[in-house]
Amino acid sequence: MSKREIVILGAGLAGLSAAWHLQKKGRSCSVFEKEVEVGGLCRSKVVNGYTFDYTGHLLHFRKQYTLDLVKRLLGDNLRLHNKSAWVYSHDRFTRFPFQANLFGLPEAVVKECLLGLIRARSNGQLNKKDPTFLEWIHHTFGEGIARHFMVPYNHKFWTVSPKNLNCEWFNNFIPVPSLGDTIQGTIAESRKSFGYNAVFWYPKRGGINLLPAKLAAGIKNIHLNHKVANLDIKNKIVHFTGGGSKKYDQLIYTLPLPEMNRLVNPLPSGISTCLKRLRHNSIFNINLGINKLGSSSKHWVYFPQKEFVFYRLGFPGSLSNSLMPKNTNSLYIEISYSKKKPLEKEGLMKPVLKNLTSLGLVTSKKDIVVRDTNDIKYGYIIYDRNRGPALKRIVDFLGEKDIHCLGRYGSWRYLSMEDCLLEGRRISNAL
Ligand SMILES: Cc1cc2nc3c(=O)[nH]c(=O)nc-3n(C[C@H](O)[C@H](O)[C@H](O)COP(=O)(O)OP(=O)(O)OC[C@H]3O[C@@H](n4cnc5c(N)ncnc54)[C@H](O)[C@@H]3O)c2cc1C
Repeated sequence: MSKREIVILGAGLAGLSAAWHLQKKGRSCSVFEKEVEVGGLCRSKVVNGYTFDYTGHLLHFRKQYTLDLVKRLLGDNLRLHNKSAWVYSHDRFTRFPFQANLFGLPEAVVKECLLGLIRARSNGQLNKKDPTFLEWIHHTFGEGIARHFMVPYNHKFWTVSPKNLNCEWFNNFIPVPSLGDTIQGTIAESRKSFGYNAVFWYPKRGGINLLPAKLAAGIKNIHLNHKVANLDIKNKIVHFTGGGSKKYDQLIYTLPLPEMNRLVNPLPSGISTCLKRLRHNSIFNINLGINKLGSSSKHWVYFPQKEFVFYRLGFPGSLSNSLMPKNTNSLYIEISYSKKKPLEKEGLMKPVLKNLTSLGLVTSKKDIVVRDTNDIKYGYIIYDRNRGPALKRIVDFLGEKDIHCLGRYGSWRYLSMEDCLLEGRRISNAL
């Protein structure tokens, strides 16, 4: 067995999973995390009795291995939910995914969407290597579905036009219903579910932070309050803010990749330029504790239209009533922004409240008893045409220096919690 020193930077799910799997194999490693607690994005906050995650964090599983692992960690504190996701457009709620649930939309919209879809279905295969997301949307769903949901929603969410995105990121998780399914979902409200994420798991009691907390309980050598200040990749030393350093042989890096430009000095200019090409959006998350709201059977709702500031809002009470004081409710709201679409955060509550009032979710400001915000700088990785080539050069360069890029922001990919857990296992096998 190798005695080489393995150091893991970041105690989010990817870093924790790597440490957990390595130590289960009898390999020693140490984890360094800047915060005072583990979990990264997979954390929860309790504010005056209301528990909020860093927006909705729901467990979808493709692999039995991860479900078993999470069951082993959370025991019976886990509940399976049938997803109840909705879209709000044209002044009404319709079921998600939009492309399979036209029932209830205005007649003219339904007609446009159906005719567009029928025409699109006669298109045959999309004969283009590396189409843009916009081309894929039009080819797959036709003009109506593109115009009434796919394009405005995705533009709002990503903060860039779908014509600037490629299709690598969604890897089959955007449902493509058959024409028959869409017609069925036009005639009547359909309950048919699509894709692997039609169901999800969430703790029965408490927030999603229980998962990293349980994982961390089985790991030795986690050092909290250790912020990486500098990476000396030549001598293989990590330096921490306020002093202290750690030598490594192999480094597992789960911090946001673009931060390398600040942490490693000097970097070859070609690599530095590639790092500058990586784009992402940011998520401004507003959490509200509400005194009066009744419980919602909806888990979350998508808002494609510009009139709504947020692209999605969700109801923690639909996951577990342990997340709020008795007879109250709460909401999480997600607003995306980026350099391309800056967000004026000051004064944001005014339009948010106006939107919530128009939906009947609050009647006045007085209903809101808790207000909490999280500004998530690194939200979703933007898959534009620069990403692939730039990422390859960066990862190859770092690999030669025994730095292994891991996790959603370390490997700069659209990864879920399950993916991060699996990535940890993969690296433990590879090292
Ligand atoms: C808005 C939003 C909603 C999401 N919803 C879901 C969902 O419903 N289901 C799902 O499966 N996934 C969801 N995800 C994805 C999920 O959160 C991530 O895949 C996963 O938590 C990423 O884990 P990670 O360890 O790769 O990164 P992180 O959680 O970002 O961990 C990186 C760690 O590095 C630490 N760190 C950063 N800089 C330093 C430094 N200088 N020194 C030391 N430590 C540092 C951070 O504090 C953090 O703990 C969502 C993501 C977002 C943004």
